Amino acid sequence: MTDKNDHQGKQEKLFALSKLLVPGGVHSPVRSFKGLHTTPRFFERADGAYIYDVDGKQYVDFCMSFGPLILGHRNPKVEEALHAGLTRGWSYGACEPYSLELAQFLISKLPHVEQLRFVNSGTEAVMTALRLARGVTGRNKIIKFNGCYHGHVDSMLIKAGSGLAGSAEASSAGVPEGVAQDTLILELGDIEGVKKCFQDYKDQIAAIIVEPLPANNGLLIQPVEFLKFLRDICDQTCALLIFDEVISGFRVAFGGMAEITGIKPDIVTLGKIIGGGLPVGAIGASKFIMEHLAPIGKVYQAGTLSANPLAMVGGLSTLKQMTPENYKFIEQQTEKIVALLTSWMKHFNNGQFAMFQVIHFSSLFWIVPSLEVKKLSDIPANLVENFNILFEVLLERGIYLAPNAYEVGFVSMAHTDEVIRDIEHRLEHRLQ
Ligand SMILES: *Cc1c(COP(=O)(O)O)cnc(C)c1O
Repeated sequence: MTDKNDHQGKQEKLFALSKLLVPGGVHSPVRSFKGLHTTPRFFERADGAYIYDVDGKQYVDFCMSFGPLILGHRNPKVEEALHAGLTRGWSYGACEPYSLELAQFLISKLPHVEQLRFVNSGTEAVMTALRLARGVTGRNKIIKFNGCYHGHVDSMLIKAGSGLAGSAEASSAGVPEGVAQDTLILELGDIEGVKKCFQDYKDQIAAIIVEPLPANNGLLIQPVEFLKFLRDICDQTCALLIFDEVISGFRVAFGGMAEITGIKPDIVTLGKIIGGGLPVGAIGASKFIMEHLAPIGKVYQAGTLSANPLAMVGGLSTLKQMTPENYKFIEQQTEKIVALLTSWMKHFNNGQFAMFQVIHFSSLFWIVPSLEVKKLSDIPANLVENFNILFEVLLERGIYLAPNAYEVGFVSMAHTDEVIRDIEHRLEHRLQ
């Protein structure tokens, strides 16, 4: 009993301190356990498929840093490469060879990319991609879809307005109306809406940005025909198609959704896996488009820590370990995990979670009370309430999902059969 009180005490003390120092106690709102009946877990180490809180409690991790850790935590080869990197110094603010190796690797896997530039996050990549698209086309408006997340850049923190199709308003305080006006918001799959926007704003639309696998408001898998339609209408109107593959790039296949669908975007944004857990983002496109960036072109973009040598080494040593067989392996492991969770949810506590299904694509999965979810408004209203109960039951059993109903789960190379047997055991037995 006293053990349990101590256990709660330590996490709560850290959260109280954190709330004094940091707004809401967190550096990113999805970490906050908002709406849950427990305080955020504070983790102090991780290894393979496991993460350990400050009390030493071990969890099977399905958050995996929200996606970058495709090999799992502390992959030995990545760790070795990072150690070697440390001995060479960790930032020069000058040209170095490490980013060239990573750039060469990425470009070799992405037929639609001839050049790329590294930045420090997915948000930065999107910010640059939008400026670049505007600089290349000389147009201002961007079409974005409701339910796609593109980081926290002002012009992407926009939701559908109450007015005409495409009308928009800021979804965050602090985003000026003027910025919102240049973002046109449509529902995923709304082909007629996209056509109408191109009629209403003739020669004003610089780009369509889309997550080709929308995976930030659950997993809203799109039909290939919709993405193909976006490609075609961009071709007809000389607008650019931006695939935001920050989550799907090097996750679903080497070439991301562009490879899987055979559709080539004009600009691609990358992040997450390409840094292997260190802060990296990238923008890639044809040489023609990319050379609009400074110092050659007139579109300005820069970064003190861009192409940080340690981050470059972390990304490259991660990606080099992925092979077509490994992509197949994590997909198979995901299928096993999805089957296990689905069957457990059906039977647990007289069917308390029987309403849940698991949608999955490649090594991503999403627990939701319906399999027919293709756009934001298809998401069942009872999702959050039921997910929060499920989350806490799993947490108690030592299984850590991202603490938010709209986040997907990530399976890594470290989720081996042995780990799956352990998950099965944890589902059957509540750990103390
Ligand atoms: C995570 C993500 C971003 C934002 O990346 P950060 O590194 O968090 O800034 C942008 N777009 C997509 C599709 C993402 O998944």
